[in-house]
Amino acid sequence: MRHVLARAQRHVLERFARSRTLLALDYDGTLAPIVTDPDRAAMRASTRRLLGQVARAYPSVVISGRSRRDVARRLQGIALAAVVGNHGLEPWHAEARPAGAVRRWIPLLRGQLGGIPGVVIEDKGLSLAIHYRNAHDRKQARAKVLAAAARLDRVRLLGGKQVLNVLPAGAPDKGRALEQARVRQACDVAIYVGDDETDEDAFGLGRNGRLLAIRVGRKRASSAAYYVRTQAEIDLLLGRLLALRPSSPPLGEALEFMRLLWAVDHGLQSRSKRMAATLGVTGPQRLVIRILGRSPGLSAGQLARVLHVHPSTLTGILRRLERRGLLTRRRDPRDARRAVLGLSAAGRRLDVAAAGTVESVMGDVLGSLPRKRLLAAREVLLALARRLNRKAADRDGVRS
Ligand SMILES: [Mg+2]
Repeated sequence: MRHVLARAQRHVLERFARSRTLLALDYDGTLAPIVTDPDRAAMRASTRRLLGQVARAYPSVVISGRSRRDVARRLQGIALAAVVGNHGLEPWHAEARPAGAVRRWIPLLRGQLGGIPGVVIEDKGLSLAIHYRNAHDRKQARAKVLAAAARLDRVRLLGGKQVLNVLPAGAPDKGRALEQARVRQACDVAIYVGDDETDEDAFGLGRNGRLLAIRVGRKRASSAAYYVRTQAEIDLLLGRLLALRPSSPPLGEALEFMRLLWAVDHGLQSRSKRMAATLGVTGPQRLVIRILGRSPGLSAGQLARVLHVHPSTLTGILRRLERRGLLTRRRDPRDARRAVLGLSAAGRRLDVAAAGTVESVMGDVLGSLPRKRLLAAREVLLALARRLNRKAADRDGVRS
């Protein structure tokens, strides 16, 4: 394990600061010092200030074992990209996991552990935490807690610092939450900082140098390759990250949104280039193939309207597809002046779902969002597309 703040490791943080990096942090023991009463856990004022600045410079998420509501309350006012609670269950898997099982565990555990002073069963809605930090004999309390939890059906037990977490079997872990957050934020690499056993699932992702795993406190058995010495060093780490990428001043809503659209545009173009290399067609070419596969017999003008583009934009795409024998053009039997488009046999072979395409990424991301938010996003994009295209049409009108 290497000290991430050591002079010799400076290049590591620099590399991540230059990349499209997601910063993900655990809360207890990482952002906030561990305290005897977990309810009183809070960040130092300096950490709060630094995190607020860092969150403007890097897309940042907090992934905690606490219920999302609990941890979000402690992070209020910080512009985080996401707050993930219950070890990754909330918010992205909350609907799929009824809290019913957790309700059934509580009386069973109370029956066996209720009499032990200092053992507290915390109900986090979708999971439980059994704390034994304040037990007189922690070792004995831990043994009893483990024995009681072992009797529960279909659970995943996750150890921690003087706590045993009880989750529904098959519940996501922090590693899965980290990956999900990274994909959602369209980041290539991630930094994850945690202090506990539950963070090992995230540390263990490794990802060929694409994850910088930092543990609070050096520990030989950890999968994290880097460490900070103490929880207090989190401020130094945040400060270093900030110095490597000064946060931009607030841009205002319009410029912020444009920045986002630009990022989407950049993503579309680079993914499209990669598709050309691996699949032999660019993103727009594949979109044309997918649409013609579903509605053969469209004219070029109709296709341009479906795609919300000017017919002249489409001409080049169609010509290239035709030249490669993927597209056919024939006379419309109902109107000899008009040509209609269709797919050749080779074109039809490409008209299937494929990994690594813009379409598959869109499907993943859209599928993970609640329908209500999707509709809202579509409304915004549609209004922008209409207005921007209208302006272009007006201008063209003036010129002609
Ligand atoms: Mg922790």
